[in-house]
Amino acid sequence: MQGLNITKIEEKIMEINPETCKHQPIYFAAVNINLNERTIGTVDVWRCGVCKKRFCEEKQLGIESIADIVGMPNIESDEKWAVVVSKIQKGKDKWKLVKLKENGTLNFETVDEKIIKLKIKNYKIEDDHHWSFLIDDNVRKAVEI
Ligand SMILES: [Zn+2]
Repeated sequence: MQGLNITKIEEKIMEINPETCKHQPIYFAAVNINLNERTIGTVDVWRCGVCKKRFCEEKQLGIESIADIVGMPNIESDEKWAVVVSKIQKGKDKWKLVKLKENGTLNFETVDEKIIKLKIKNYKIEDDHHWSFLIDDNVRKAVEI
C-alpha cells in the first residue's frame, strides 16, 4: 500500500516538472502587436494545464495558425519568450517572436534571411536597430511597435 503511494507521489512530481511533463497546452491569452494603433498581429500564449509552462505562437493578421500540426515549440527553462522589433523594417516584417536567454547573444534571422548577432542583457535586446519586450510582461496587453 505504502509503496503504491510513493509511486503516485513520484508520478506527480514527474508530471509537474516542466522537463519531464507530457505537456497539455491550453489557450491562455494573447499579446496584440499594434502599429499606429492598429493590430497587425498577435502572439498567442498557451499554458500547460499540468506544469504551467508557457508556449507561444506568432500570428500575423490574416495568416492561419499551423500550431495544431507542428505542435508546441519547445523552450528551454533558462529562456523567455520575447518579441524582437526592428527599427528599420516596416509592417509585418517589423516584429518576430523569439526565445531569449538572460544574457549573451541571439542569432537572429532577418527578413532577407541573414543571420545577425544581437546582444542580450537582462532578457532584453541591446542594439541600435532592434529592441525587444517580454511576452510575460505583456499578456492581455497591446504593444505598440
Ligand atoms: Zn507541462
